[in-house]
Order: sequence, then C-alpha cells, then structure tokens
Amino acid sequence: MSSYDYDLFVIGGGSGGVRGARVAASLGKRVAIAEEYRYGGTCVIRGCVPKKLFVYASQFHEHFEDAAGFGWTVGESSFDWKKLVAAKDTEIARLEGLYKKGLAGANAEILETRAELVDAHTVRLVKTGQTVTAKTIVIATGGRPNPHAALPGHELCISSNEAFHLEELPKSIVIAGGGYIAVEFANIFHGLGVETTLIYRGAEILSRFDEDLRRGLHEAMVAKGIRILCHDTLQKVSKGEDGLILETLNSGTLHAGVVMLALGRDPNTEGLGLEAAGVAVDERGAIIVDDYSRTNVENIYALGDVTNRVQLTPVAIHEAMCFIETEYKNNPTRPDYELIPTAVFSQPEIGTVGLSEEEAGRRYAELEVYRAQFRPLKATLSGRSERMIMKLIVDAASRKVVGAHILGHDAGEMAQLLGITLKAGCTKDDFDQTMALHPTAAEELVTMYAPSYRIREGKRI
Ligand code: NDP
Repeated sequence: MSSYDYDLFVIGGGSGGVRGARVAASLGKRVAIAEEYRYGGTCVIRGCVPKKLFVYASQFHEHFEDAAGFGWTVGESSFDWKKLVAAKDTEIARLEGLYKKGLAGANAEILETRAELVDAHTVRLVKTGQTVTAKTIVIATGGRPNPHAALPGHELCISSNEAFHLEELPKSIVIAGGGYIAVEFANIFHGLGVETTLIYRGAEILSRFDEDLRRGLHEAMVAKGIRILCHDTLQKVSKGEDGLILETLNSGTLHAGVVMLALGRDPNTEGLGLEAAGVAVDERGAIIVDDYSRTNVENIYALGDVTNRVQLTPVAIHEAMCFIETEYKNNPTRPDYELIPTAVFSQPEIGTVGLSEEEAGRRYAELEVYRAQFRPLKATLSGRSERMIMKLIVDAASRKVVGAHILGHDAGEMAQLLGITLKAGCTKDDFDQTMALHPTAAEELVTMYAPSYRIREGKRI
C-alpha cells in the first residue's frame, strides 16, 4: 500500500482532466480530482458545446428565409435571447451532471475546490486549507482568454466567457481577432441580428487555414453583412454616452454596444504552485512537457490547453488516454498530432484536415490541386447565393491526399470522415474508385477527376 493519500490527483475538471481521472479510477486507482469552477471545463461550460448551440440558434433566420423558395410561408418570427441563454444553461448543467456522474461511477473522489501544488507530491485544497498527497499528479487546468492588458480600456471589453451570459443582446458588437473564436462569434452575433464588425491585424482572417477557404469565407461573411476590417487593430476603448468608443489604427473611430476580444488563450498556470513543485513553464506560462506529457518533475504530468500544444478538446482527451497507457498500462504512448481534423463553425462552415495548399507547397516538390466551387442544390430553390468550395491537395509523386478542405454546410461533419481517409493514407486513386453518393455535396470529393492546377516547387503552373 502506497503511503500517499491517492494514487492520482488531477487538478482541473475539463475534458483532459476528467478523462484521465475517470479512466484511472476505473482501473482501480485511488483518484481525486479538483475543479474550482464547474466540471466540464471550457469545452462544456463556456466553449465548444454552448457555442455550437448558439450557432444553431443563429442560423434560423436564414432557414426561415430559405423556406419561401420551397413553398412555405413562415409567419412573423422573433428571437428571445434570454430564452436561448436559459435553455443553453439547462443543457450545460445536464452535461456537467453527466461528467460528475461518470467520475463518481468510477469511484473518483470529486472535489469542488481550487487546488494548488505545495510540492511534487502535495496539493493544498484552497477551500478548506487541507493538504493531501498523491503518487502521481496531473495538471489539466486549461486556459483562459488573453485579456490584452496592453490595450487601454481592455477592462471594458468582454471575452467569449462573458459572451455566453450577456444580459441583453447588444445592437452592435466589434470583435477583435481573426481566429476560431472571433470568426465563429462574428457569425453568431450577426445571425442573431447584431450589427457586427470584425477587426483583425493580418491580411486575411484564419491565418492557419487554406488561403482559398479564408478568402471564400471572408467574401461570404461580407455578403451576409458582416463588416471585416483587416490590417487593423484596436488602439483604445473608452466609455461614451451611448456605448463604447473605439480608436483603431486604420479605420478611425468606431462605436459599439459591446467589444469582444478573441485574441488567443493563455495557459492557466498562475498561482498554481508550480515553482514550489519545481515544474518548469515556458515564456507564455505554458507547462513544458515531453512527448509523453510528463513535466520536468518525474511524477507530474500536464495535459490539454495548459501545455499550449494544440488547443482542442479531442486533443486533450487523446493526451489523457496516452497518459493512462504510459502511466498505468506499462505502454508508453505519445500523443499523435498528425492529421487532426478541425472545423470552424462559421457560416458557411469550414472543415479541414491535413496541409493547406500553401503548407503542402513548401513540403512537396509537386502537387496536384483538385478544386470545385459550386452552388449547393438547396440554394437553387432558396435563392441563396452561397457557394461551396472543396479542395483536395495531392502529392503528385505518391498520389497521397495530403490535405482536404471544405467551405460550406456540414463541412465539419465531412472533415471528420475525411480525417479517416487521410489517416489511412488514402491516395487520389482511392478517392476516384469510390462510388459517388448522389445527390450530396460530398460527392464532389470523389468526382474531381482532373487536377484544376498543379504546384511545382511552390509555384502554381
Ligand atoms: P486563435 O489562435 O484561433 O486566434 C487568435 C487571433 O488573435 C488570431 O487571429 C491572432 O492573429 C489574433 N491576435 C493574437 N494576439 C493579438 C494581438 N496582440 N493583437 C491583435 N490580434 C492578435 O485563438 P482564439 O482565441 O480564436 O481561440 C483559441 C483556441 O481555441 C484556438 O486556437 C482553437 O484551438 C480553440 N478553438 C477551437 C474551436 C473549434 O475547434 N471550432 C473554436 C474556438 C476555439 P494572427 O493570426 O495574426 O496571429
């Protein structure tokens, strides 16, 4: 019997922490997990899940408009923000309950308190001041929105955290940033009837995505009525008589009811006792880990956003499962970060896996690019002008599909399945030999027989 109170103590009840704690407990380990806010973490409580519910809510006005083309007359419609927030809160509370139920069912001890390290094996439970010991400790405290403290007036701005609980829907919003959160929320607020402006420092939104999709989405968002200011930043935010006044670098003075900052997320490591335990962090405060998620302290691991590797829920869960294999199954397993499918729940949606054309052009001598741009069938009767874009990036030498990119409805759903094909190493010939499923949008993926163009030594020919 070990002399420690627990075999495993997990700090942080988000996606990675809960998975690690639950599976370790189900293996018969004595496990405790501490969470200072709510079980479920960012993804469940104020991230992916409530965001997706808001995305659905924001799409209805287009559905109502589209219905006319199919013979429907939709009566007068109105939207009640408070009702949406309340319904979302009910669902989130249900999910939080399920997370706790899973932990309890596996016999993990659930602690509702902040926990801080005292040394490499000791944790202080802040609520009671009690200290407990554990053989192994996992830090999975996640991240929080970058507050952009250098911006005068940043304290007047909200982040995605507050966006989920606004008392009232503002008449207008300015969102700073050009990443996942900025783009998704710009579409949500616009869809709910808020006059929306996005302000982004770079040349084009979504800097890490395929250029074609970035441009296509930008155009589609502008066509819907979202204002996008690129090459621009906020310089100052102050209170005016009727809302907020924003000074920008290049677009003069703007006015908005709400300003939301979506400028990346910082690892949650402040005041965690990392120094006392001897755990090293990098210049951004992220916990440094090796290939197996182990910190520089032998018995302490770190998982998920707190390590600032890939800030995605399924990645944190995967890291937790690898930790279980490594620590408890005598099977050292490194997380695999190759070919992670990802979606931006914008409107239209982006779904992508593998390399962008630009990245692939840098890695491979010659590429074949298969590209289709078309009006989806539903848009013919609805009259909506949206176009879908589908792209396959193929390494000409091996014929392997190294990137797949979609802009349009259900792009995220398609990207999940494309992820399997790319992971399996499918070639363009495998795509060609696959029977089309008609009539779908996805059939384009298996019916693009001739390359639209080639890229040789990084140049389009
Ligand atoms: P992102 O990293 O996606 O985007 C941050 C944005 O802020 C970038 O456009 C960046 O510009 C800009 N930026 C950063 N610092 C500054 C600054 N000082 N001044 C001006 N602009 C700045 O972060 P998000 O906050 O949008 O999201 C955090 C993470 O959460 C994402 O990386 C993603 O992994 C995850 N997430 C995933 C979602 C999904 O899977 N659908 C949804 C939401 C979040 P630049 O591009 O020039 O660096």
